[in-house]
Amino acid sequence: MLINPLTKNIGADDTALDLGAYRNNDGYRGWLRALRMSPEKLIDLVQKAGLRGRGGAGFNTGFKWSFVPGDRQAQPVRYLVCNADEMEPGTFKDRLLMERDPHLLLEGMMIAAHAIGATTAYIFIRGEYHRAAKVLENAIGEAEQAGLLTPETTGWEQPLRIYLHRSSGNYICGEETALLNALEGKRAIPRAKPPYPQVSGLWGRPTVVNNVETLCNLPHLVTQGADWYRQLGRGEDGGTKLFGVSGKVNKPGLWELPMGTPVREVIENHAGGLRDGLTLRGFLPGGGSTDFLGPQHLDLPLDYDAVGKAGSRLGTGTITVLDEATCPVGLVLNLSRFFARESCGWCTPCRDGLPWVVHILQRIENGEGTMEDLELLREHTIRMAPGNTFCALAPGAAEPIQSALKLFEQDFVDHIRGKACPFH
Ligand code: NAD
Repeated sequence: MLINPLTKNIGADDTALDLGAYRNNDGYRGWLRALRMSPEKLIDLVQKAGLRGRGGAGFNTGFKWSFVPGDRQAQPVRYLVCNADEMEPGTFKDRLLMERDPHLLLEGMMIAAHAIGATTAYIFIRGEYHRAAKVLENAIGEAEQAGLLTPETTGWEQPLRIYLHRSSGNYICGEETALLNALEGKRAIPRAKPPYPQVSGLWGRPTVVNNVETLCNLPHLVTQGADWYRQLGRGEDGGTKLFGVSGKVNKPGLWELPMGTPVREVIENHAGGLRDGLTLRGFLPGGGSTDFLGPQHLDLPLDYDAVGKAGSRLGTGTITVLDEATCPVGLVLNLSRFFARESCGWCTPCRDGLPWVVHILQRIENGEGTMEDLELLREHTIRMAPGNTFCALAPGAAEPIQSALKLFEQDFVDHIRGKACPFH
């Protein structure tokens, strides 16, 4: 039996679930249960359940919360921020949750706010997500009207306030510290870490930034307990996950599956395999900023550590497949153009390095490249390594290029020697 707590309310029609229907399906039970728990117990429960951040980094959520200072008298102002700035290439999982089951997200936010002692919460949503923003605004109004956020319900001194903030920025605004700058009305550039936001975040106050899907896991986790949650996963990591597939497959889409589901099962059973008799050459396991893996990794369980050990990252869990009829140079060029355009320009390897990478890749793709270009490309991506930049944008952009240079080196050479793209 497939257990799908994240998507159980999402039906065939595309309407958002309203408060009445959400409550009829056991909605807000987790919130009421969490309110009966101490924040410490709640943090401990989430940590034990092994919920890892679904934004892409996979950091243990309860552990992240535990860095927020425990002394509430000394630091009474804390913030919760939901990162809904979904912009990773090939990633479309949070949009579904927000558009179709907005109260699941709100309930998750309320639980997280209780754990960290926040009475103000923000949803920072991608500017282009117009429909999700409208649905969420309506749901916040419903929750407020029903008194779910009032001191009478919570027993807190102040009401909980949830604000929706529409991003007017680009990809970098999803980086948690750039996001905080954007919320403060400043230029959206990343801040140096440490200090991490849990200690000094929004306006210098303790702040937790959690992804939409991460927060949506909390209601059922709190209702059913850590052991139940852990056993939902098939491997090391607990829970279920929204996995997606795009590229030349028969049924591109998104499915809720146990953590640790093998890649083959997602691509062949759920996405219906490759189209038109094509064969798989490789895949990006979780968005455009991950390393390519090859067909030898088809039996890999999709969990954070297993994908990490294989040399990539689970990232957002939305797979992009590369088939033998698609040019890998063109694919990484396309991704690199995106990352170069979305750089905030704050540090040199990203601001200047990415346009150079695009320039070199374009030259190779046009059949104007030289063998020296391959070395130059490698060198540029090494300069974008973590530690040379403020945030993960440039290191992430380097991952598909570096892995393509290893896995598909012959394709680069064929472009150079043949003075043309062999796929055209
Ligand atoms: P990160 O590993 O630096 O941090 C992840 C989270 O853990 C952060 O909230 C951070 O505060 C916390 N953390 C990490 N180390 C900590 C420490 N020592 N002490 C306290 N807290 C700590 O990763 P990141 O730069 O925040 O995110 C990179 C990820 O974002 C990539 O994996 C990428 O896949 C993903 N991403 C997702 C999207 C999207 O649209 N969903 C877009 C771009 C990138």
